[in-house]
Amino acid sequence: LSRRVPETPGEDEIAQLARTANETLDRLERAVARQRQFASDASHELRTPIAGLRTNLEDAAMHPDDTDLHDVVRSALRDTDRLESIVTDLLLLARIGTGGMAAQEPIDLAELTAAEIDRRAYGAGPRVELARDVTVRGVRMQLVRLLGNLLDNADRYAGGVAAVEVARDGHDALLTVSDDGGGIAEEDRERVFERFTRLDSARSRGAGGTGLGLAIAREIAHAHGGTLRIEDAPKGARFVLRLPLQHDQR
Ligand code: ADP
Repeated sequence: LSRRVPETPGEDEIAQLARTANETLDRLERAVARQRQFASDASHELRTPIAGLRTNLEDAAMHPDDTDLHDVVRSALRDTDRLESIVTDLLLLARIGTGGMAAQEPIDLAELTAAEIDRRAYGAGPRVELARDVTVRGVRMQLVRLLGNLLDNADRYAGGVAAVEVARDGHDALLTVSDDGGGIAEEDRERVFERFTRLDSARSRGAGGTGLGLAIAREIAHAHGGTLRIEDAPKGARFVLRLPLQHDQR
């Protein structure tokens, strides 16, 4: 991959072609490097619970008389849960955007959001503002998962969801989830969407986080022709999902 087309100076067709070819090669090379890094990170994430499982079982096998079987089983179950969530999230990440998108249907964002908030039965609850008739084309399960990841994160890292809003902006639908926590520093606002990035790894793992939640959320947004970004907020973090409105709503 590292071979490059010799570039000649000037603006003629050949010179332009050579530059385009080299730019494409550069992009491919970066994509391959990212994929390699991802495979290495994923293996590392999977090895941690496997190592825990092995130590635990080896210990029990070597010292059967000093072993509290309940402890061993409980700990083995925790590691198994962890393995299962990582593998489930990895599979989901691999599938978004491929075959799954065939299941697209018109989705009323206010209705989907209200249902998800009801299901979670927040006590005092967040401030909720849902504009009506904001319909997008999408895969319901995926959009529920995207919203769920943002709500879970606000609970995990910010002590709860402060506000959820659905609105229209020109030809777009906006879904915003805000919290009153510590927020996310400007320099981390792109990084947190990368696979396995955690700003606070002990807290994330302790809460059952796989480090894939925001990567999955953004991948779902892109598969729907939209974007997911963190915007400035007076306090806490503010995640904004922007999706194209269904055609007849424009
Ligand atoms: P996970 O929660 O499994 O670690 P995510 O991809 O969902 O993975 O989130 C990545 C990281 O971004 C989290 O580990 C956390 O450090 C940070 N983060 C996510 N949401 C918030 C939030 N609402 N407030 C502060 N930090 C957050």
